[in-house]
Amino acid sequence: MKAEIICTGAELLSGKTINTNAAYLSKELSAIGIEVAYHTVVGDNEKELYESIDTCTKRADILIITGGLGATYDDLTKETAARYFKREMIFDKISYDNIVSYFEYTKREISENNKKQAYIPEGSIALKNERGTAPGIILKEKDKTVILLPGPPYEMQHMFLKYVKKYLVDLSGNVIISKDINFFGISEAALEYRLRSLMISSKNPVIAPYAKKGEVVIRVSARAENKEKAEEILNPVTEKICKEFSDYIYATDALNLESVLVEKLTQANKKVAVAESCTGGLVSKRITDISGASKVFECEICSYSDRIKESILGVKRETLEKYTAVSKETAAEMAIGIKRLTGADIAVSVTGVAGPGDLSVDKPYGLVYIGIKSEKYSDVLELKLGGNDKSDRELIRNLAASYAINACLRAI
Ligand code: ATP
Repeated sequence: MKAEIICTGAELLSGKTINTNAAYLSKELSAIGIEVAYHTVVGDNEKELYESIDTCTKRADILIITGGLGATYDDLTKETAARYFKREMIFDKISYDNIVSYFEYTKREISENNKKQAYIPEGSIALKNERGTAPGIILKEKDKTVILLPGPPYEMQHMFLKYVKKYLVDLSGNVIISKDINFFGISEAALEYRLRSLMISSKNPVIAPYAKKGEVVIRVSARAENKEKAEEILNPVTEKICKEFSDYIYATDALNLESVLVEKLTQANKKVAVAESCTGGLVSKRITDISGASKVFECEICSYSDRIKESILGVKRETLEKYTAVSKETAAEMAIGIKRLTGADIAVSVTGVAGPGDLSVDKPYGLVYIGIKSEKYSDVLELKLGGNDKSDRELIRNLAASYAINACLRAI
């Protein structure tokens, strides 16, 4: 099946808003085996939208249009689609009741304009909007399927995942299963470069990257007439990727690094303690964000000053004077210190320069040391997280925290 996407809105054409809806829908459609042939963007202009619907429906089996379902005069998508397919606009009581309850829930006054949103093309299916007021629409015309979704990505994505995805999978008569492979320590670009030929050649399963802050997820999705056959298609490919990239894969189908750490520590019946300098408590925050952390998280010392590194963690004064606080030696002694103090099974430390600053100096921003100490294992990682677009303090601190959590995982 071939699909096309039309995104409407003058703000997309002017460049004020980036067209993330098209990118999102293309990725999701490709994961369920629907090929997207064209993206079209039109302004809030009825004639141009009408012409685009005409062009796209002649070429594609499925047309998805986002935007222009609002309550104002320039929101024309439903009316234009209804005119093109020669359908009357009819009042949909269920949609109206949903709109009324949304206004009651958000304690806002409903206006007469909002009633317009409860009109749908005759013979179409209305999709409940749980994050806004404009219902989505599915309209069937012979062998063509036209789906209208709201413009705001927060509303559109929820509606797609909740109703549209299943509708399209059922339409194709297939079952879809997918597995996320969680990577850390490799950039999306480097991973894509190594996986490119497989990604291009493999149509089923589909292999697509999903970038997350500081880590990369590859989603592998297979479709077949039943679950067993889909698994037969999916498993050899995920196994191949997991084998080839074992150094960078920390889990599959995981939420994030910290959730896997809490899970692994719980299984191993071990506890972790953290001594942080440049991350200022971020490692601890991320670990304790995970429910169940109380069983595995022992203690945190946020030793930002040299005085606390020395007096509480026991970092030697000579070490601080000779090598400074941002050094391999200090990181190692911080990890030893927090382990001795708490008796935790795994101790991790972070010290570095979060920036912003200069790259040419002796200790440039982004220079970070992670110390790790367990009963049988100790190591210090030197990271250079600065440079290019990484001159950002928040990014460096987040990445440093991720490396520290990953180091704990490796120590287990
Ligand atoms: P509303 O009820 O909010 O008017 P709508 O369905 O009419 O919703 P639009 O008015 O077209 O949608 O868009 C609302 C906002 O959603 C836009 O200002 C923009 O911020 C965002 N938006 C719309 N289309 C896109 C898109 N393709 N990509 C990213 N954001 C979008």
